Amino acid sequence: DAELRAHGVPLVVRTGDPTRVVPQVAHEANAGRVHITREVSPLGRARDKRVAAALSSGGRELVEFRGSLLTEPEELAGSSGAGYLVFTPFSRAWESIGVPARIDAPTMSGPTLPSESLDGLVTGDPRLPAGPDAARAAIVSFIRSGHADGYAEARNAVDDDATSHLSTYLRLGMISPAQVGRALGAPGALSPGRAAFWRQICWRDFYHHHLRRHPEVARMALRPAFRNIEWDDAPADFAAWKAGETGFPIVDAGMRQMASLGWMHNRARMITASFLVKDMLIDWRRGETFFMQQLVDGCPANNNGGWQWVAGTGTDAAPYFRVFNPTLQGQKFDPSGDYVRRWIPELRDVPSTLIHEPWRLTLEEQRAAGCRLGSDYPLPRLDHAAQRREVLARYKATGEAPG
Ligand code: FAD
Repeated sequence: DAELRAHGVPLVVRTGDPTRVVPQVAHEANAGRVHITREVSPLGRARDKRVAAALSSGGRELVEFRGSLLTEPEELAGSSGAGYLVFTPFSRAWESIGVPARIDAPTMSGPTLPSESLDGLVTGDPRLPAGPDAARAAIVSFIRSGHADGYAEARNAVDDDATSHLSTYLRLGMISPAQVGRALGAPGALSPGRAAFWRQICWRDFYHHHLRRHPEVARMALRPAFRNIEWDDAPADFAAWKAGETGFPIVDAGMRQMASLGWMHNRARMITASFLVKDMLIDWRRGETFFMQQLVDGCPANNNGGWQWVAGTGTDAAPYFRVFNPTLQGQKFDPSGDYVRRWIPELRDVPSTLIHEPWRLTLEEQRAAGCRLGSDYPLPRLDHAAQRREVLARYKATGEAPG
């Protein structure tokens, strides 16, 4: 509201069915056109189509603009014209497009319309400071702290809060990828850390183009053979995964971080997702839905891309038989165990050597750590090696070549 006021128009908030509310506000404002940022998700696009039809029946036009992505799918159609299914050639083409120059916001004017108040929506402390100023502060602090330059080395360390935390701002349009690029110094020679970070923004465009071109992936595996994997129902396992009670500390820490912050470290997202699919043999779409319900940055394109990457059912060339071992992942990416200790206080006093496999603690060690396995913290729900064999057999049964 403050930003818009500075440009001459206050924010107007109205809630309700957009096919009714948008034409109503356009009518009150005597506006011939309604300008919006272009959507990617099938649900959002279907909604915008309905709104366009409602506006058009009143003689008004809906005009879509770019803004949430650095590039639009039409700009990167590839040699076939159908876009890219593989990231590396996409990223080469993406980098060659460059970063658009800043355009100053125009001064606007318009009628003052009645607005609903936002006060009723605010309950308790927000999980993140919101708005464009907060988003700009986040990218500035990410660069000034040295985290952008150190990103290539630190991005996988779950116990080190060294990523940008820009996902929610990007998702909600509080900052654009072009602004992020300009802040980093793109286009131009970026330090290895900044280049690695910029590559993640490229993944974001990649998954958004992918969803726009293949909307069916919102409901099913990209690869047809993997649409028929036999999944388990396993309600008790699913409940334990959601609650962060699987007995595998790195998995539980990630799930509890998400429950508390509405955000989870990327490495932990990969580990927790892999655990659901490859250890619990539960359909990745159930995990995808749960993440969307929990994440403040929940994004149909990135979330779907991430889940299909983990499940090995999407664009990625990695073979499906790459199954994360949760214990080794914990030891590698949380070697001190501090991430686990932060989110699982029951394990606070477990020594670092055993924090990722607490089931190996003797009874005496459990007493010393003040944590009784099976009551204070669960024993592992499953045998990773056995589940790995089983899931590979099920993938193999689809007849799809691995990779
Ligand atoms: P940084 O590491 O600082 O990255 C900067 C930005 O690049 C992110 O804000 C994001 O916009 C983009 N980005 C980073 N990694 C990826 C990636 N793998 N794919 C696409 N874009 C990426 N990201 C979401 O924004 N929303 C989601 O709902 C989401 N769900 C995911 C589910 C799974 C199973 C997995 C494996 C990944 C998911 N991601 C999602 C991608 C990634 O985990 C988050 O973008 C990242 O953790 C957000 O933290 P950050 O902003 O500090 O990231």
